[in-house]
Amino acid sequence: MSQATRQLRLRAGTVDVVVIGAGHSGLAMSRFLSRCSIDHVILEKGEIANSWRHERWDSLRLLTPNWQSRLPGYEYTGDDPDGYMSMPEVIEFIDTYARSIGAPVRTHTAVTSVGTAEDGYRVVTNRGDWQCRAVVIASGAHNLPAVPSLCDSLPKSIQTLTTKEYRNPGQLDDRGVLVVGASATGVQLADEIQRSGRQVTLAVGEHIRMPRVYRGFDIQWWLDALGILDERYDEVDDIIRARRVPSPQLIGTPERATLDLNALTHRGVEIVGRLVGINDGKAQFSGSLRNHCMMADLKLARLLDRIDAWTDVNAPNTALGERERFDTTWVADSPRLSLDLARSRIGTIIWATGFRPDYGWLHVPALDRKGHLRHDGGIVAVPGLYVLGLNFMRRRKSSFIHGAEDDVHELGAHLVSYLGARPQLGACPQLRTATS
Ligand SMILES: Cc1cc2nc3c(=O)[nH]c(=O)nc-3n(C[C@H](O)[C@H](O)[C@H](O)COP(=O)(O)OP(=O)(O)OC[C@H]3O[C@@H](n4cnc5c(N)ncnc54)[C@H](O)[C@@H]3O)c2cc1C
Repeated sequence: MSQATRQLRLRAGTVDVVVIGAGHSGLAMSRFLSRCSIDHVILEKGEIANSWRHERWDSLRLLTPNWQSRLPGYEYTGDDPDGYMSMPEVIEFIDTYARSIGAPVRTHTAVTSVGTAEDGYRVVTNRGDWQCRAVVIASGAHNLPAVPSLCDSLPKSIQTLTTKEYRNPGQLDDRGVLVVGASATGVQLADEIQRSGRQVTLAVGEHIRMPRVYRGFDIQWWLDALGILDERYDEVDDIIRARRVPSPQLIGTPERATLDLNALTHRGVEIVGRLVGINDGKAQFSGSLRNHCMMADLKLARLLDRIDAWTDVNAPNTALGERERFDTTWVADSPRLSLDLARSRIGTIIWATGFRPDYGWLHVPALDRKGHLRHDGGIVAVPGLYVLGLNFMRRRKSSFIHGAEDDVHELGAHLVSYLGARPQLGACPQLRTATS
């Protein structure tokens, strides 16, 4: 073994728990473990808040308001609670959290393999190996872009970008842009690129429409107040489907503007159906656009009815804004079903089609045939293995920053009991009983 390798190995070692990833989820778990005096380390392939530093576009702001950005023992204390953090502000928020809890983070330490070993797990990294009894996977839900295979049939003259690669309109030539996907990311990019002077076509499938503000309050406030964000994974009828629901069409701007399809049409974006094929340089769109829009309008109306009914019971004498119902989504009489990419001068296609986690390094029998982790609310099918931060993992809010707290308490309690640790209640004051 070379001197350098020996030195690297010396830096690694044995701990009770290895946490993979120093995003907000891994840090929140670290605080829990520290308070329970459980020996652990966080292994991070880049820097703290790495995804926010390197995998987001320049203009992105959180779509959750500042007052909602909170982590265990830590919350936003600035003078703009109704604002939305920019990327540098999010990085600062998470960085400060890591410092304030004294998180034991090893940066630039990429986990390349996790396998079972005697009495636990062996975690292999580019900077030595770790032996531990339990592993918490907090490596994020957005590691690999889910790009449809029809991307392979594109003419070479078309540039393609995933939303991880897109930074700003300066990356694009002056031709038109086809944005595929109309969740929060898709509508935000369509808006930014159309404003930059390029013609945008937006391919729209199932989507969730929401106003930014309703009756004077941010829509996130209503979702919180009605308990919608707290709905649990074991309470909904179809959790597989619930986990696939796209993120709502929201944007965080100082004007607290609503960004729905009508706003985009008004700005000049052309709305078309789902992209279903690319043949002979022509993009083909499904005829389902009207149905998807009607469904989104219907769900929005139901949500607003639910909010109004809630206020009648819970805030009958509170001065709120007027009840409002919004125009239905405008759809052309005959939406375009095909687009000749060359003749329409399309220069770029942006895939805003979602992401999936990367578990290529996980060598334990915890993945199903599709490569999804088999878990029950974050408790992985293999003992001693936990996951955090996935969409609707334990609650609808699980993938949000403010969703980490409840999940960490429950999974942390399960983990403490798995380790057979008996933390003193004084040291671990927030220990609650795991519910599953
Ligand atoms: C475009 C976008 C907008 C969002 N907007 C909001 C919002 O407005 N409000 C909100 O609350 N949430 C928002 N989210 C959701 C959520 O906060 C993020 O997905 C968040 O980054 C997830 O946190 P995490 O800690 O679970 O994972 P991440 O922040 O992704 O952290 C995972 C960490 O693990 C590291 N890692 C990965 N693989 C390895 C490995 N093999 N070895 C070592 N380290 C590894 C990564 O470098 C990274 O630092 C948004 C997400 C996206 C993608």
